Amino acid sequence: MTNLILLGAPGAGKGTQARRLQERFGIVQISTGEMLRAAARSGTPDGRKAKVIMDRGELVPDCMMVGMIAGRIDQPDCRNGFALDGFPRTTAQAEALDGMLVKRGIAIDHVIEVAVDDDAMVKRIIGRYTCARCGAGYHDLYSKPSVPGVCDRCGGTRFERRDDDTAETVRARLAAYHRQTEPILAYYGQRELLRRVDGMAAIDEVTRQLFAIVEDSRRERLT
Ligand code: AMP
Repeated sequence: MTNLILLGAPGAGKGTQARRLQERFGIVQISTGEMLRAAARSGTPDGRKAKVIMDRGELVPDCMMVGMIAGRIDQPDCRNGFALDGFPRTTAQAEALDGMLVKRGIAIDHVIEVAVDDDAMVKRIIGRYTCARCGAGYHDLYSKPSVPGVCDRCGGTRFERRDDDTAETVRARLAAYHRQTEPILAYYGQRELLRRVDGMAAIDEVTRQLFAIVEDSRRERLT
């Protein structure tokens, strides 16, 4: 069982890499952004409230997020290990997470920063889209389907973009990252849990670095 936290600015590729970790090691991806988007789609009162905040590029209140994560970590699939993608995003969330994990006798093995440049992120985010059927990710400039309009993975022909992937909202999201989330790096750095991968490298190279971290920590545990 390996438990990870993936930290990094919006667009760093946390979601893509978390999906690959899940496929390779069975480490369950827990994406708070996806959970909130699902809540917004289903139109629950919390989901509707969150949608307004997300569309402004701001952070949803800690109290809503902490309850959401606690419920998710208690699901049986998380016993194989999990990768938190998009949580914690504030020091208060990091502290709440610690309390939650202590109570459950669970430890985080690594906090991995996927390090990127802001300027490149705006371009990366506003061009990205996914297949509506299977979730495969594409990009207007960097990664188009081989047959235009047809998903390489499942043949789907409907694609979608996130409502908050606009230039204006991306700038607000990057600002929120620097102001509210970046301080968490020091919080985990003090506890020597922090690792760093180069998020500006090619997607496969980032995956290679992440897989090496997981494989090393599993080997160390066996010896
Ligand atoms: P993401 O998919 O991780 O980029 O998240 C999309 C949006 O969901 C963010 O811009 C926030 O508005 C909201 N969100 C996701 N995770 C959190 C969190 N841990 N705390 C507060 N807001 C969050």
